[in-house]
Amino acid sequence: MILKEAIYDLYELSKYNLHVHSYNSSCARIEMTISRIVKKAKKCDLKVVAITDHYNFRDFDIIGNNNRLKEEISNDNKEIKILYGAELSAYGVNKFLDPIEVNEKLDYRLYSYNHYHLDFWEHPRDQTPRGYVDHGLQILTSLIKSGRADCIAHPFIGRFINCLADKTLVTREMRDRELGDILELGKKHNVAWEINTNAFLADSEFAKRYWEIGKEVGVTFHMGTDAHRLEDIDPRQVVDKLMLILK
Ligand SMILES: [Zn+2]
Ligand SMILES: [Zn+2]
Repeated sequence: MILKEAIYDLYELSKYNLHVHSYNSSCARIEMTISRIVKKAKKCDLKVVAITDHYNFRDFDIIGNNNRLKEEISNDNKEIKILYGAELSAYGVNKFLDPIEVNEKLDYRLYSYNHYHLDFWEHPRDQTPRGYVDHGLQILTSLIKSGRADCIAHPFIGRFINCLADKTLVTREMRDRELGDILELGKKHNVAWEINTNAFLADSEFAKRYWEIGKEVGVTFHMGTDAHRLEDIDPRQVVDKLMLILK
């Protein structure tokens, strides 16, 4: 585990930004070089940064890219711990895009299971909010039990389900009991749950339930801003907003 114990202080959590894209993600800005990311992270007093580029193609050379990023940075960076990971794809029930040899070489394995906007993602047969809740829970169960994941990216929040008009339909459909059970399964298998700052702000009602139930269960939360630009690296700039949502 990246955090030795569960932290429920948002200011303390915001010293770890565990979801940052480098220029090796095509959706990220070209300015996202490792040296600029580290420079910015130092200014923000971050302790740990995880580089999590998208792994959306089987022939994507994530390990080679990460090694090249390591070479680009000078050895004088002692203050900030950098984890060279990936945002991996659990694109269906028991379906993982990354070969296990790739998975094992990563410092940090952040998994998305709800990138439904990508054309290779599996959809449920029943494309209603209930269908997506059940499908999501099935993917998560298979992923958590596989031992592949360190953390789940932007869980539950359906901003990626582009076939449904209202993005909160899926989270409103999800029962507290279902949420508690899956969070508990993650805890049992040492899988952390992301506080994705964008997703939290987009669905504040659900964010509060997730936070409350997660604390009750005793899960480990990881904060991530899903930064694609330098200006989004500092999680502290949204902590006050998060506090208002979660109070
Ligand atoms: Zn994502
Ligand atoms: Zn991301």
